[in-house]
Amino acid sequence: MKIVIAGAGIGGLTAAMCLHRAGFAVEVFEGVNELKPLGVGINIQAGAVRILSSLGLEPALAATGIETRELRYANRHGQTIWADPRGRHAGLPWPQFSIHRGELQMILFDAARRMLGTDRIRLGQRLTGFEQRGSKVHVRFGADTVEADVLIGADGIHSAVRAQFYPDEGPPKWQGILMWRGVTVGKPYLGGATMVQAGHHTQKFVCYPISRAHAERGEALINWICDLYQGPHAAPPREDWNKPGKLADFLPRYAGWDFGWLNVPDVIRSAHAIFEFPMVDRDPLPRWSHGRITLLGDAAHPMYPIGSNGASQSIIDGEAIAQELSAGDDPEKALRRYEERRLPPMARIVESNRRKGIDVMLDIVEERAPQGFSDLEAVLPANELERIVGDYKKLAAQDRETLMRLAGHHH
Ligand SMILES: Cc1cc2nc3c(=O)[nH]c(=O)nc-3n(C[C@H](O)[C@H](O)[C@H](O)COP(=O)(O)OP(=O)(O)OC[C@H]3O[C@@H](n4cnc5c(N)ncnc54)[C@H](O)[C@@H]3O)c2cc1C
Repeated sequence: MKIVIAGAGIGGLTAAMCLHRAGFAVEVFEGVNELKPLGVGINIQAGAVRILSSLGLEPALAATGIETRELRYANRHGQTIWADPRGRHAGLPWPQFSIHRGELQMILFDAARRMLGTDRIRLGQRLTGFEQRGSKVHVRFGADTVEADVLIGADGIHSAVRAQFYPDEGPPKWQGILMWRGVTVGKPYLGGATMVQAGHHTQKFVCYPISRAHAERGEALINWICDLYQGPHAAPPREDWNKPGKLADFLPRYAGWDFGWLNVPDVIRSAHAIFEFPMVDRDPLPRWSHGRITLLGDAAHPMYPIGSNGASQSIIDGEAIAQELSAGDDPEKALRRYEERRLPPMARIVESNRRKGIDVMLDIVEERAPQGFSDLEAVLPANELERIVGDYKKLAAQDRETLMRLAGHHH
């Protein structure tokens, strides 16, 4: 069985390796002529690290990124609302990593070329259309046509595969939040491995260190994101991962955000690159799989970057598709099973993130104690916090029980 994957992003490359390992003939077709380490920071949750580790990639991840020790939510005064140990620090068998997206993509690209063979990952091949005829899919890349038994659209938020099934969908959806992202060389804060989410839903500051090399020099390469609500009538800007951002558009709003353990305006001002990007997603689809064609990663379920799920869920998709295609010999049924398994939980994350997801705790605290608090219990009682966190972890499959079940560990 020959499987064609459109897109050599994080999802497509992981799927390629999982499918190759399961014994399938896989070819990846990537639209760009050259993969460059684009983007800024990203998190790989423990459940996704499990999959990359099984492909032998944990040493490369550990050598490049930071093993995330803690996730900390704080109000805009820097007071801690919730601190959660992550990965191995939470007693899980796998770490969580914070890493540069481009470096992660390069690790996957190099590994996929080693595993599949260099000629199996073809660059400069943009999918332009396809037809299903009998048990074959004819996939067009400009003037060339490739025949496949299965086609996987892993071609990101502007997926051409998705667009052929849903031609009237239009551009991604925006609800008015703009994000400025940057990386800054700074001093390590809170022990050098903590991801911070501070503020509230309409004005947030997120940061985490992403580079092992910097940490070894006693520095921190801090990836940061400022989320700012622009109002209901602002025009949605076309998203472009490389659009430069301007300090004047957002820095003034963060004046006074000095947490003691981190001076936010200083971090922002010292950035060596800043990008502006709208927070966009798409409505959940009724179906991903049509015959011998399916979708994966952002092509299937682009979501707001809340709760650090985008890259991790695309990795989990790749494993799921390989498992289902290996489990039976009818690929159409396998793709339906993959969809039944993955579509409902991804639709729930997309919808939860639109309702702020786990960030809801920030808004509760901001609403009840805008000037800060001396006793968190009086503002957000532990049982209420526990419920928010527990629900979201279940939803995102970050809870221990789901993680162990997915890993096939019985206890
Ligand atoms: C350049 C870039 C920078 C990003 N930076 C960040 C970041 O800093 N932080 C963050 O959280 N997320 C970032 N993302 C998004 C993040 O990578 C995804 O949300 C997540 O990793 C899911 O990955 P994916 O493989 O589904 O999609 P993507 O990572 O978007 O990969 C899709 C791939 O498909 C290729 N492609 C697109 N159309 C076609 C076509 N018609 N035919 C063939 N190939 C095609 C694209 O070139 C790309 O390589 C970025 C994505 C891109 C493309």
